[in-house]
Amino acid sequence: MEIKVAKHAGFCFGVKKAIEIAEEVAQSNDGNTYVLGQLVHNEKVIKNLEDKGIIFADDISEIPQNAVTVLRAHGEPGTTYKLLEEKSIVKGRNLNDATCPLVTLVHNVAIKLKNAGYEVILFGKHNHPEAIGTSYHLRGKSTFIVEHEDNHQKVIDYVNRNHFKKVAIISQTTMSVFGYKNLIENINKEMNNQFKEIPLSLKNLDVKYGFVDTICNPTKQRQSDVDELANECDLIIVIGGKNSSNSKELHAKALEYGVESYFIQSAEQLQKEWFKGKEKIGVTAGASTPDYLINDVVERIREIVGQEKINTEIKI
Ligand code: SF4
Repeated sequence: MEIKVAKHAGFCFGVKKAIEIAEEVAQSNDGNTYVLGQLVHNEKVIKNLEDKGIIFADDISEIPQNAVTVLRAHGEPGTTYKLLEEKSIVKGRNLNDATCPLVTLVHNVAIKLKNAGYEVILFGKHNHPEAIGTSYHLRGKSTFIVEHEDNHQKVIDYVNRNHFKKVAIISQTTMSVFGYKNLIENINKEMNNQFKEIPLSLKNLDVKYGFVDTICNPTKQRQSDVDELANECDLIIVIGGKNSSNSKELHAKALEYGVESYFIQSAEQLQKEWFKGKEKIGVTAGASTPDYLINDVVERIREIVGQEKINTEIKI
């Protein structure tokens, strides 16, 4: 038997940086350090940070006046900064902003498209913090968000009903690459290929209907690792937090390939029967999964199948 661990499994640079910022701030701060929302969508990582004295606030009302505060990688709407300012929590003093630069890039794309006269539609998850942050720059709560590639007809109806002069579609950074491609193809089938790709540099803003590829590279790498694993493995284990959008995408992708796959949060959830008769086991993890959880899973698989039955453990 072989165990193959995906090359890009685990933390992306944006999440790694956000955790480093939170830890450094907490260490150098004598008082309490607050983080607004879940810093990463991983319960074990959150527990570990709580043990280091970091307090997670679900809502700004839970953060005291003047408190040292960290904002997570997902990006925040402008209203968050205004409400924090009212509590004397400001950048350069006691507010540490860990927003991932690739999320900021999507916000900037949204703003530029809007300023160029586009009605911007977002391919994303309604309640995901990143989608809420991006929506702030568009129509706020009434931003048109499409969650699934099969909802193409809703997009077409929205476009036709409103007679917008220009329409652009962008994506949350962690969505499925194939899902986005299929959504655009489905729309184009009904609309005579009118939706053209606009480069990320936004050089060409003359097109009436366009789409911009705003899925981040770390997400793409993790998804293409699953392509490789699915080609070779008869079982794929995906590790990630229950609320992790990018981890769920990896699991969905493995299932789409018809490969047996399980989505777990930690090694204790592995079940012996999953491994019976399997030759190659693929292991991957979402961008919010720390290395130690991946190592725990590999070790537990070794215990379950018996060390002597494993030929190699390789990174793809
Ligand atoms: S998934 Fe992409 S956008 Fe999100 S934090 Fe990681 S690198 Fe940044």
